[in-house]
Amino acid sequence: MSLRDAIAPLALAGWRLVRPVLGEENTFRILLLHDVPTSKRDVFARLVQNLTMARRLITPVEAEAILAGGPVPPGPSPVLLSFDDGFASNLDVAETILAPLGIKALFFVCPGLIGLEPEARAAAATANILRGQRPAPEPLLGWDGIERLAALGHTMGSHTSHHLRLTTLSPDQRAEEIGGAARLLTERLGKIPDWFAYTFGDIDSIDAASLAEIGRHHRYCRSGVRGPNSKATPPLALRGDNIDLGTGEAWRGLAVEGGLDVLYRKQRRILDAMADRS
Ligand SMILES: [Zn+2]
Repeated sequence: MSLRDAIAPLALAGWRLVRPVLGEENTFRILLLHDVPTSKRDVFARLVQNLTMARRLITPVEAEAILAGGPVPPGPSPVLLSFDDGFASNLDVAETILAPLGIKALFFVCPGLIGLEPEARAAAATANILRGQRPAPEPLLGWDGIERLAALGHTMGSHTSHHLRLTTLSPDQRAEEIGGAARLLTERLGKIPDWFAYTFGDIDSIDAASLAEIGRHHRYCRSGVRGPNSKATPPLALRGDNIDLGTGEAWRGLAVEGGLDVLYRKQRRILDAMADRS
């Protein structure tokens, strides 16, 4: 058992005691997932079923309404599901787990990779998404899969064209990775995506110039910086909670319930300042 799994049950119990005092009213959270391998399907299904039974899952449209100042259901923060990178298992879980429960989610995809031949797509996924550190866990969806996700009623967002790190690009490359992706997605899906998620999600993978470019094409930008979202959150600085399906349930509970937010206070401040300047 890892150290974090060992301490998570106690941390979660403690967090549940202090949370009502700290208050997290009128907020929602965005969970961030990637591929959902076959070996983790049960874990994912249980997470989604628990959130459904607790009536905590909301759709992208409902999240947008909260950001616009609409009411938030009482109780623990509602949760919006999001998936990054467009892995093949996204469509499997959409059809077998999300559809039967009527759940609508956000899917962030890279149109410059989707259009490649399968072999080139796999190589690019390994190089650009896994940064060459290990092979991509599974294939990326092609356009047929992406169009099927959209047809199921999910909201498709941009995740740059080729899954490049925005802070490493020249202004021209950055404009092309963001604007070119928006153009391609609009051509294929018939509408400009409102949503964007920047690649890698950490605070060092984004800057004010990139957020400004994102804001020229999209209304919302989701990060991988943990925290609650509300109408007070800058729409280009939305928080996202990475969910690791390989950890114990208590650690995941901490992420879903905001128990890790305290570790990201500084990153949230930096992100808000970037959004302010963009
Ligand atoms: Zn990604």
